[in-house]
Amino acid sequence: MKQSLLGLENLTAEQINNILSHASEMKKVVLSDNKKITNLQGKTVVNLFYENSTRTRTSFELAAKYMGANAANITSSGSSVEKGETLIDTAETLNAMGTDILVMRHSMSGAPNVIEPLVDASVINAGDGMHEHPTQALLDMLTMIEHKGHIEGLKVAIIGDVYHSRVVRSNIYGLKKLGAEVTLGGPATLMAKDIDKMGVKTFNNVQEAIIDADVVMALRIQLERQKKGLFPSIREYFKFFGIDESRLKLAKPDAIVMHPGPVNRGVELSSTVIDGDRSVITQQVTSGVAVRMAVMDMLINGGF
Ligand code: ASP
Repeated sequence: MKQSLLGLENLTAEQINNILSHASEMKKVVLSDNKKITNLQGKTVVNLFYENSTRTRTSFELAAKYMGANAANITSSGSSVEKGETLIDTAETLNAMGTDILVMRHSMSGAPNVIEPLVDASVINAGDGMHEHPTQALLDMLTMIEHKGHIEGLKVAIIGDVYHSRVVRSNIYGLKKLGAEVTLGGPATLMAKDIDKMGVKTFNNVQEAIIDADVVMALRIQLERQKKGLFPSIREYFKFFGIDESRLKLAKPDAIVMHPGPVNRGVELSSTVIDGDRSVITQQVTSGVAVRMAVMDMLINGGF
């Protein structure tokens, strides 16, 4: 039976650990001079993206190509989506072309769950609205393990636009399953109601959330999802919630700084922090290719 990755909510700790250890092996391929293995030879991966993306889409495309698959990209602008074709019809059309893996990004939470039962292809959720972004959380966890050796017992502070963030939800599911402590900080207007029911502590400031953290993860302010101003201005946001060198001093001295990207420089993080030696933002990008290789390999060849 085909398998899909729609979120981390329904994965076990063992499944997450298996993906992460396979991803560590795949990272060696990504960092090598000969990025060509045959695990997906003869298979077809289609990226169907209804929202903008730089790193996620490229990362899936390269991951597929490094494993020998055929890879195609479809974005809503320039496709029949603009002519009014429904998501279901588009997905069924792509399925009829012999797609083995359908990677989907959509602004509607739950869109991949609707499509998954209708197609033969394995479906990977590459971000659905404000719901989940499972491969982002997996790449974040791989990067944490590379720096800290483990997830269990880590204190991870996630700061910013929690309300609109699918990255935060997938990270909470994954990190909690592997035994990390998660604290959230940000403006009250950007905090999600009831998110503490997911077993996290929430603060309406950065300082308390960040104290003694091993990992400080900033989230992008998602201006495109805001219907109304939920904070006064970008300048004010940085003043009260941005992470600069002095706020970072509250975290552990060896804390690492992460961001899922794209970063708004000088808004979520100061430029000095982004370019500083505690920032692992570019390593997250490399981990992303490795994680996507691991997930696609395991969905097609077993072990998921
Ligand atoms: N790239 C991530 C996402 O698609 C984070 C972001 O856009 O802020 O959710």
